[in-house]
This record gives sequence, C-alpha cells and structure tokens, in this order.
Amino acid sequence: MALIVHKYGGTSMGSIERIRNVAKRVAKWHKSGHQLIVVLSAMSGETNRLLSLVREISTQPNPRDLDMITSTGEQVSVGLLSIALQEEGVDAVGYAGWQISVKTNSAFTKARIKKIDDKQVLIDLNVGKVVIITGFQGVDSNGRVTTLGRGGSDTSAVAIAAALRANECLIYTDVDGVYTTDPRIVKEARRLNQITFEEMLEMASLGSKVLQIRSVEFAGKYRVKTRVLSSLIDPMIPLDDEMRSGTLITFEENNKMERAIISGIAFQRDEARIAIIGVPDKPSVACQILGLLADANIDVDMIIQNTSIEGKTDLTFTVSRSDYGHVMNILACHAQEHIKAQKVLGDPNMSKVSIIGIGMRSHAEIASTIFRTLLEEGINIEMVSTSEIKISVLINEKFMESAVRLLHKVFKLEQS
Ligand code: ASP
Ligand code: MG
Repeated sequence: MALIVHKYGGTSMGSIERIRNVAKRVAKWHKSGHQLIVVLSAMSGETNRLLSLVREISTQPNPRDLDMITSTGEQVSVGLLSIALQEEGVDAVGYAGWQISVKTNSAFTKARIKKIDDKQVLIDLNVGKVVIITGFQGVDSNGRVTTLGRGGSDTSAVAIAAALRANECLIYTDVDGVYTTDPRIVKEARRLNQITFEEMLEMASLGSKVLQIRSVEFAGKYRVKTRVLSSLIDPMIPLDDEMRSGTLITFEENNKMERAIISGIAFQRDEARIAIIGVPDKPSVACQILGLLADANIDVDMIIQNTSIEGKTDLTFTVSRSDYGHVMNILACHAQEHIKAQKVLGDPNMSKVSIIGIGMRSHAEIASTIFRTLLEEGINIEMVSTSEIKISVLINEKFMESAVRLLHKVFKLEQS
C-alpha cells in the first residue's frame, strides 16, 4: 500500500462527464489498496470567468478581495468530486486550504506555501477515506484566504505530497507528458519517459506550460517523485499501464547511465532586444540602467556588455516583447541625460531557442553543433547565454520555427 497524491487540472475537471471519469480513476486506485489524496483545480475557464467579473467592476482590485473570489472555483471542484466519489461507493471528504490548513505568507495572488498541517489528513486516510483538497489556495497567519498564482494547484499538489511524504505525486493533465519540443512545431516531437527535475525546471522557466515552475522547485527540494500523465485516457486501464505512461520527473543519480545528452528544445517567441550604444564603461551605468527597469517591474533576461573601446561600451539585453515599448520609453527619458548613451537601438522581433540537457555538462561540442547548424541555414545568432545544462540563442523571430526543427533533427531527438 502506498500513499499517492493525484492532481487534476481544469481540463480534467472540465465537465460533469469528466468529473465522473476522475471519480472512476480515483476509485480504481483506492480499491486497489492505496491511500489517496486528490488535489483539484477549478473547472476549466472558471478562474478566468471569475476574474472577468472583477474586471467589470474595477481595473485595480484589491489583491485580497481577488483571492476571496478566485479561490472559490477550486472549492466547487472539491465538492463535486466528493459527491461523484460517493456515487462510486468511495468514502471521500473534501477540504478547502484553510481547513487543512495550508499556511502561506500574505502575498495575495502570489502567496508562497510555508507549512502544511498533516493531522486531519492522516486521521481521514487512516480510516480509509479519500481526502480531496483545493489546489491553488491557502490561508495566511491572519486567517485570510490566499492564492498561489495562476497554475498554482500543481504547486499545491507537490507541496502536499512533500508534507505527507507521499510515495508519488501524479499530475493528471490534458497532455500525456513532457515532449522533446512542442509537437505543434515539430511533428516528430517525442514524449519523454523521464526527465530530470533540473531539466524540467529549465523547461518550465522557459515557458513550457506543462507544470507551474514552483511545483518543479518543490519536487526538487523535497525529492517528490512526480509524474505528468493524461487524465483523458480510459480511467479503467490497469494501474500498471497507468504507472508506465506519462513522463516521470527523476533525480539525476537514479539513472545516470541511460541519459540522453539533450532532452528537449524550448522556445520563447515573444522576445525583444535592446542595445544601448556608447555608454561610459563604469559599473554604475549597467547598474543604473537595470535599476530603472527593475523599478518598473520589467524582467531582463539575457545581458551582454561589450569590451570597452576608449572608455565606452555597449550594453545589450532582452526583455519580453510586451515590455518593449515601455522599456524604450524609459530609456528615451534617461538615455541622453542620465546614462549618457550615444544611442538606443531596439528590435522587438526576436525569439529565443534553448537546448536543454544535463548531458551537456560533459559534452562540450553541443554549442559548436548549434552554431554550425544555424550558420549553415543562414540564421544569424544575435545573442547567446548558457548555463550548465542549457544553451539559449536569440534569433530573428522569422527563423524560430525552422531553427527548432533543424536542431530537433540534428540532435536526433525524435529517436529514443
Ligand atoms: N484555477 C487556477 C488557475 O486557473 C489554478 C490552477 O488551475 O492551477 O490558474
Ligand atoms: Mg495547470
């Protein structure tokens, strides 16, 4: 007997029919002798619907009130699944985050989990009940309901699995796992049977929407065995088959031998590049520029400062395309007078392609293969950034899809 956490996202809970299927799946697991905790999202579209009601009243709602509203979607899901499980003959009990309680800080709309009380959950599990808990929400030290940010129920599930020391956390979603790249761009993209949590962290931070990034951080920190799998396949398939499906997030030392060098290619389409030309080469200048952007809550991604010539240098960086206009305005106000730049150049039509794989640590030739491949196709690399397990290149948006396809092929990612 194992303690298993299941998490079902909005699509999996999207209709009464689907909720019945979730109940059948959970009942199957429970009847085979496992202890089950189920963490739920709101039904698909519900959180957006609630937010649109708010927008009709105010453009600047108080985040505390927002959490009061958006947290309700998950509560409906919990109640519905509890009833559906009882219809399946399974004894189930549902809780909101504040009842358990899932303690968070008070950063409304983006709260962080601090502690999860396991007492009541253990009592229920020990008498054979399935425990259903709202994802996405918690409670702060003043007893106010908080939410964890969009997509936060993944994080709730992994955090609950960590707190209860569950044997495994199964994230059921509308895709059947993590792919080598987006199958809409590369039709040969292949589902990965496993991926290390570090690679998954890079994928999540690069915009792969499969898991919320904080849930991956939790899985890594507390070593929660986490699997992403489809909720849309027949709920009655044998447990063993289900356990072999999807993508398992592993920890490197488990299986060093069989690792591929590259696991996947991620991309971000909407990037912009800004170059500030001819600024005095003093550390205070970069600091001043980045400070201005930080004050405006603009995230800067890649940064390059050129070698200085006659005391002047160029500073080039990227931001997301939606911030481009804002950044250019800020720089227009400050460039000449405060930063003393000669000019500011910008290009909003950039994309970033990133090759990810822990095998890169021991294979230095990956970078040259990427550069050669793109060069041969006449794709100019505008900027590069690297980490131990990732190489990102910034290229013109019009080449993005072909670059992803070429690199997928060169690294033979379609082959397992
Ligand atoms: N219902 C929330 C959202 O739509 C949380 C989640 O689905 O994970 O963002
Ligand atoms: Mg989600």
